[in-house]
Amino acid sequence: MNFNIFMPARLIGGKDCVIKNSGVFRDLGQKCLIVTGKNGARLCGALDDVTNALRNEGIEYGIFDEIQENPLVSSVLKGGKICAENNIDFVVAIGGGSPLDAGKAVAIAGANPDFTMADLYNRKIPVSALPLVLVGTTAGTGSEVTGVSVLTKDDDMTKKSIGGADCYGTISFLDPKYTYSMSRGVTVSTALDAFAHIIEGWFSKKCTPLARSYGKMALPLVFKGLKFLYDNPETLPCESLRDDLYYGSIYAGLQLNICGAAFPHTVGYMLTENFGIPHGRACTAFAPYFLMKAKSNCPREYSELLAVLGYSETEVSEVISALTDVENLNIGEARAKDLCERWAGGNKNFDNSPGGFTADEAKELLMKL
Ligand code: NAP
Ligand code: FE
Repeated sequence: MNFNIFMPARLIGGKDCVIKNSGVFRDLGQKCLIVTGKNGARLCGALDDVTNALRNEGIEYGIFDEIQENPLVSSVLKGGKICAENNIDFVVAIGGGSPLDAGKAVAIAGANPDFTMADLYNRKIPVSALPLVLVGTTAGTGSEVTGVSVLTKDDDMTKKSIGGADCYGTISFLDPKYTYSMSRGVTVSTALDAFAHIIEGWFSKKCTPLARSYGKMALPLVFKGLKFLYDNPETLPCESLRDDLYYGSIYAGLQLNICGAAFPHTVGYMLTENFGIPHGRACTAFAPYFLMKAKSNCPREYSELLAVLGYSETEVSEVISALTDVENLNIGEARAKDLCERWAGGNKNFDNSPGGFTADEAKELLMKL
């Protein structure tokens, strides 16, 4: 039971929580920049709720809606410049993991408008980030509760995260109703991301009983949604299943935040970068091998996982593989070797995997996809 946990975000949850709690914006300043993507925040009603809340409180706002999936550092730096030029007091990020992660970095860049991508990654951040409000609209990343921002570097288009106290929201709004408008594709991939967070955290060396208690709450909620999506390829989940998926993704994020990710996330980034596979599906492409290693290296925790799930190993593997649906990539040996070169010197997420993981194993797995 030795643990040391830092989770400084105020979490405000429940239906209509943004409108019901509009007063909390008042403490953050008079002018804000909303950071979001092109469509999702409008489609799900979150943008309307936030702008109505800001108007109720007499707060001026601008909208920067240029955040793309797997957000680029250049977009974040652009958002930071807009903050500085307009004397913005705080940032409100609305969206899935991409706008939330971008918003975290915009809040840092907004306070440090002259800094560069290298400064961001080297954590040379002289001035503290602007206050940040996160409003989640997908049910997967848990970015609302993690101290991490995953960005894509413009120079080599690889995904690389930054993390620290300044990557938490000051306030995170958790309203599952925003996820009701997600397409089947986004629902599947984000639910798989939450599943990957649960299993990677569950078998981490840093997984204490407290962290696993989040995983235990997350697992049935997330898997129930995945099983429904597997059983009903033509139907979207009802609102109550969507609520379960959303809160499950938040519990999964709380566990991930304590335990860190393992190799499926690291190798998954590479699948997204090179083959355009959405983040969640890219991670669970490696779930079967990860679970196989977990079974032999952590048998007690593995049995506990299946007991909490209430499904057999075969059923779990069938649901995850069918929804992941990553195959026929035909990555030959030379390309696989090339792609895995970056991990020749090791990787911290590889070390955080049950039984460890190597660049050679990554190469073999890629060739099998
Ligand atoms: P996303 O990239 O934020 O969004 C995917 C798509 O869904 C976009 O087209 C988006 O539209 C749309 N969308 C979002 N909410 C919607 C809604 N309610 N209704 C309809 N469409 C909606 O997807 P994501 O899976 O949530 O985030 C993935 C990113 O998060 C990756 O970069 C990943 O690396 C990162 N991540 C971060 C953490 C963390 O701890 N910080 C953890 C895991 C993953 P718009 O483009 O219009 O918004
Ligand atoms: Fe993830």
